[in-house]
Amino acid sequence: MNMTQCPQCGHKRRGEEYKCPECDCFYSPLDEILAQEAAEKAKRSFSGRLKAIKAAKNPIKAFFDEYRRENKAAPFNITIFLAIVFMFVFMMVISVM
Ligand SMILES: [Zn+2]
Repeated sequence: MNMTQCPQCGHKRRGEEYKCPECDCFYSPLDEILAQEAAEKAKRSFSGRLKAIKAAKNPIKAFFDEYRRENKAAPFNITIFLAIVFMFVFMMVISVM
């Protein structure tokens, strides 16, 4: 498979482009996968999330939806965090008494 030019129009590939600028066609199926992954990564990144929140009709709701998704993704870390906070408060109370 020739990945250095467009399979449709033969446009020469430049650098790390995934798609042909002439006909909007991926240079290869591999490039399609890479482009999807890059788009997914950009969406999951912090700035990508902020952009999505900013673009939402209801930014506050979008923020909480994002927050909830984050909690679901890392429930273990949050449990540990809460346990540490709880222990800290408990120790403070013990030291005062
Ligand atoms: Zn093309």
